[in-house]
Amino acid sequence: MRKIQVVAAITMLLVFACKPQEKIVIEKEIIQKEMAGHKKPKNVIFMVGDGMGLTQITAAMISNGYRLNFERFHSVGFHKSYSYDDLITDSAAGATAFSIGEKSYNAAIGVNKDTVAIRTLTEEAILQGYKTGVVVTSTIVHATPASFIAHNRHRNNYEEIAVDVANCNADILIGGGKKYFDRRKSDELNLVEKMKKDGYKVESFLDIDPEKATIPSGMKYALFTADDDPLPVAQGRTYLEPMTMATIKALDNTEKGFFLVVEGSQIDWGGHANNKNYVITELLDFDKTIGKVLDYIDANGETLLVITADHETGGMAINPGSNSDSLSISFATTHHSGTLIPVFAAGPGAELFQGIYENTSIYDKIRKALGWKEENQRIILDDRGTK
Ligand SMILES: [Zn+2]
Repeated sequence: MRKIQVVAAITMLLVFACKPQEKIVIEKEIIQKEMAGHKKPKNVIFMVGDGMGLTQITAAMISNGYRLNFERFHSVGFHKSYSYDDLITDSAAGATAFSIGEKSYNAAIGVNKDTVAIRTLTEEAILQGYKTGVVVTSTIVHATPASFIAHNRHRNNYEEIAVDVANCNADILIGGGKKYFDRRKSDELNLVEKMKKDGYKVESFLDIDPEKATIPSGMKYALFTADDDPLPVAQGRTYLEPMTMATIKALDNTEKGFFLVVEGSQIDWGGHANNKNYVITELLDFDKTIGKVLDYIDANGETLLVITADHETGGMAINPGSNSDSLSISFATTHHSGTLIPVFAAGPGAELFQGIYENTSIYDKIRKALGWKEENQRIILDDRGTK
């Protein structure tokens, strides 16, 4: 009996020692210490390689002559990717941790664990007068982009999420999923027409080649790159790098600065398919984009770039017997895994992203780097998330 009491006491102590509130306080102190004396970035570019763990990066590196643009980063850290209700996060809870700074349940889009909508980084940037953009290789209503510009209790409510996207007021929106905007099953709304009335120039893959689009300066712009999911790189999709750079050029024209979210969405889909070539080609496309963005960061000098993944997909491993010409890859699962996720940062404030921390700390570190006021963090919005 006594032994049980002692064990219980030790367990209580351990639980107490690790309670989340304390972790947050410790991480807050580290952020404050590290920001002392550092230059504040004017712009932030946040890039997500969905499903991109260390093995995905390594496999792409080996297949590319053992070189990647990732090697240009000096500030590297890791985040703990677990969600509120699962050790293995999904992309919705993963991106929501970045966008609202709270651990939520798998499938949550910009809402906390109680399905309450919380103001996202993109929404806060818009309120403060920053220019904003989202460029992805999934649909624009998919989990990662949606978590920055929409609020919904479930990631699969694509048509509801499209209404939020059409109303989000971001300056530039590039991704697939046109059908959720202009040929909806749940109602007769034509959100493309609505966006045009609201001042957007809206173009689609039906009008132009997405990689050759010209983004007009001084007006809002939406480009639908596909009716549903955009193609994989291996089937001819090439717009991520040119449209990311065109978006940066279009946003980089104000005193206030810009906040841009970019996602290489399909690294994850290659992992789910346990298809190494799919993973590697998507990773190399993402890396090519990173190279161009880093060139911009180096020349610009006032932009913070943060790159991470929401989680790893596939439990991918490089097996014995592999060589640089022929990688033997195995996958432990067709789902996500629970491993630590790398974070790469460059530009003013990059030092903040060194170390090991919660995925929600990325929200805090970006806000801290920008010098955004603490009283404006994690603001509860209306009940849109609970409808
Ligand atoms: Zn996934």
